[in-house]
Amino acid sequence: MKDRKILTGEDYIQSLRGRKLKVFLMGEQVNEPVDHPVMRPSINAMARTYDLALEESDLATAMSPFTGERVNRFLHIATNAEEVVLQNKMQRRLGQLTGTCFQRCVGMDALNALYSVTYEIDAQRHTSYHARLKEFIQQMQYHNTVIGGAMTDVKGDRSKPPSQQADPDMYLHISKRTKEGVYIRGAKAHQTGCINSHWLIVMPTLRLQPDEVDYAIVGALPVEAEGITYVVGRQSCDTRSLEGEIEAGNAEFSGQEALIIFEDAFIPNNLIFMNGETEFTAMLVERFTAFHRRSYVCKSGVGDVLIGAAATIADYNGVEKASHIRDKLVEMTLLNETIYATGIAASYQSQVTSSGAYLCDELLANVCKQQVTRITYEMARLAQDLAGGLLVTMPSEADYRSVETGPMLEKYLRGREDVPTESRMRILRLIENLTLGRNAVGYLTESLHGAGSPQAQRIQIQRQMQLEFKQQLAKKLAGIEESRS
Ligand code: SF4
Repeated sequence: MKDRKILTGEDYIQSLRGRKLKVFLMGEQVNEPVDHPVMRPSINAMARTYDLALEESDLATAMSPFTGERVNRFLHIATNAEEVVLQNKMQRRLGQLTGTCFQRCVGMDALNALYSVTYEIDAQRHTSYHARLKEFIQQMQYHNTVIGGAMTDVKGDRSKPPSQQADPDMYLHISKRTKEGVYIRGAKAHQTGCINSHWLIVMPTLRLQPDEVDYAIVGALPVEAEGITYVVGRQSCDTRSLEGEIEAGNAEFSGQEALIIFEDAFIPNNLIFMNGETEFTAMLVERFTAFHRRSYVCKSGVGDVLIGAAATIADYNGVEKASHIRDKLVEMTLLNETIYATGIAASYQSQVTSSGAYLCDELLANVCKQQVTRITYEMARLAQDLAGGLLVTMPSEADYRSVETGPMLEKYLRGREDVPTESRMRILRLIENLTLGRNAVGYLTESLHGAGSPQAQRIQIQRQMQLEFKQQLAKKLAGIEESRS
């Protein structure tokens, strides 16, 4: 493995160069994603996870029992509740700094879930996945790599399980087994930050049946492995990155999602962490999604940016003291802290697993994510309310820079006398970026569907809502005595 010794965000960006990935965007092959103006903002967002580790070491690094050194927290296995909580605090901070999805949490949540699941597979099946995983984690920590977690299959006909699909490639599966390892075929959709990663971990997306052993594959492979193609997803207004800097709204940072297609890509034996143990797929999916659903406190960090932008446009419009404006900002804060409170509560309530790694509270994690699916939309509505209609009718930066129309726009787009027109335009473009534009992908639709669509959380909440226990409480206080005979 190449020694990357990455320390800074800039080191990380340089480590992505020259990898010769097969990446397509808008019908063209992208030879160097680092230099592509539409892709670069997502790379910048990932790079912040490196710089934060240097700027705020207590928050974004942890002492590794594997290397005996401080490592990036995104690569650390949490072995007490406080460390699970610190993941959330780091995520909120990064949301504040980037105003978007910084993409590195999926790998963190995958490693933490796999750590306990591989331990339990080995205990029952006498396999050696856990030791392999520990070796892999140690290598990743040493090289400070980015790991993308690839779970969501494209799923084909949703009424049919993997083994009944007309095309078996609708779910990632083993296409060939050799003495050295396995070859995999299929595709993973909506893959956050995958092109900006160094490694991918593939995992099954749902509970599998005993005859679906070829779909029960978990393993790691380098992003540049042979047989992998990436097709970058469009984001609303992504080509604004090719226009003026004001037009982008948040010119520096964005998220990234792509479709990954695996055409007989190879995973060697030492990087396989599950191979056919279908009875453990539900445990893996549930543990991974629990971690990742409370990781959505990242949206409270982005929400802090949106609240700040809404308060700023109110200020620039000269209405910051109006009571109904203050009340809307209070409402936004109340909503935003509700996301944070449920996520961090899930982390505080973490319990130890038999591997020694801690697992967050699954019920509260699902409550957090369900709140995220709604709250961000209400926050966006309030921000647009405070921004006013100019948010969607404002002329372009090119018109503002034009000698002919520029002076007119300078005059007529001004709000408060002492605030430059350009500042007002910039903050409006940021609100547009977060609620309608490129980073609305991360703030809104990703909040709805990322880490499972709303119904997926409701199913988990239903499983854990303890209705019988609650009925007993009520009946006791109501003086109801029931005999079940
Ligand atoms: Fe992290 Fe949030 Fe992006 Fe998921 S959506 S990878 S939790 S920043």
